[in-house]
Amino acid sequence: TEITRFRVFSRVRPFIEEELWEMKDGILRSVVEMSGKKTILLDPKEEWAPKSEFEFDASLWSIPPTQKLQVTFQDALHETHQTQQDVYNLVAKSAVPSAFDGFNSCILTYGQTGSGKTYTMMGKYNPTAVCGGDGEEGIIPRVCNDIFQLLEERRTAEKSKPESERITYRIEVNFVEIYLERVRDLLDPTLRNSKDARMNEAKIRQDPACGPYVEGVTRYQVENWRHCCQLLERGSTHRTTCATLVHQQSSRSHAIFQITVMMEETIPAKDRYSLPSTRTRAGRINLVDLAGSERGGMTDYVKESAAINSSLLALRRVIDNLVERQNIQMEQARQQIVQNSNSGTMMSNAFNADRVLPQVPFRDSVLTWLLSDSIGGNARTTMVATLSPLAKNFGDTLATLQWSSKARNLVTLVRMNDVQTV
Ligand code: ADP
Repeated sequence: TEITRFRVFSRVRPFIEEELWEMKDGILRSVVEMSGKKTILLDPKEEWAPKSEFEFDASLWSIPPTQKLQVTFQDALHETHQTQQDVYNLVAKSAVPSAFDGFNSCILTYGQTGSGKTYTMMGKYNPTAVCGGDGEEGIIPRVCNDIFQLLEERRTAEKSKPESERITYRIEVNFVEIYLERVRDLLDPTLRNSKDARMNEAKIRQDPACGPYVEGVTRYQVENWRHCCQLLERGSTHRTTCATLVHQQSSRSHAIFQITVMMEETIPAKDRYSLPSTRTRAGRINLVDLAGSERGGMTDYVKESAAINSSLLALRRVIDNLVERQNIQMEQARQQIVQNSNSGTMMSNAFNADRVLPQVPFRDSVLTWLLSDSIGGNARTTMVATLSPLAKNFGDTLATLQWSSKARNLVTLVRMNDVQTV
């Protein structure tokens, strides 16, 4: 068991081409400023004065030097910008060896539509090319790429052991979308076009080794990066085709790509009366592109935005609740220590915190239920808060910064996944 903290990063996206056309007198200004770990929000209505300041594990500047010339305010501060590779190294790289050690991780992107969530998670990738380096691949293709590299290494290392002691590795992926509390299996092989795009009532089940999963979801066993990327591409295409044909769903739905490292080893029989058994361990990485966090604007889809908010709200409630539990636990631990030192006894049988603590409302939404063993409880959680540099998005950017910096207070205990013996 180890103690870990919610890691939260902020990342501002550059101006995109259409926005560059709109600039006045060759000058563009970003409402987001960054300095070291700090993200500073400037108020365009108050002559771009600094409005609030937030601290993150790192503040990731991604406005390239070519745009810097046009973004006058930042000139002095930003010599470099963080590439997709830099972001991957900081945010996600460590999740790969962790998965092979049997730990779960969860990486989420949170922000309004158009702020760079999908670019950060998926980026641009090509299944027929080599992944990595300073390409534009996002976190998911890079995680997959590193998983297969490490898999190769581990399998080679296993070969030097006697056959009966070897661990066999298997990599599995699944990809779902949650929309209005329903689930679409984006890798369902019967999905040919958007008409087939069924949204099913989600039944969440609990797997003893891997945790919660959607019942009946298609799980692929993958052997290499290319295969993994083809699946990713197929799933993403289903997500976006459905989006343009039905409604702007991709900004309103949550996409979860799960990649699981399954490890199986044989435990020799204890004595001549018993049989050898198999021990299965799993480490899973949840990669989540959350629905846009904007507070709706248009209310054509009142029900829709209510349900989406309810899912995001549930996530926020879960995190707020975990923070509260943690405060209570710390207070109890403090009192226990005071008591013990007063009475001179050894700290025995420490308080059973769970008795008095409120339940965390994981089951309030499909999203939080599915992530219940990846947030708080038993996982390393990382969030990237994505920000738009545009003045018109000031309000939403402020809201994103406020909530994500709050989530950063959370500390969790992480332990290796339970072992299942068959
Ligand atoms: P979201 O998923 O939050 O709706 P997108 O990821 O689609 O937003 O980003 C909106 C646009 O900005 C896209 O055209 C994307 O390519 C571009 N973009 C976002 N982040 C970056 C970045 N860090 N560097 C370059 N372009 C980016």
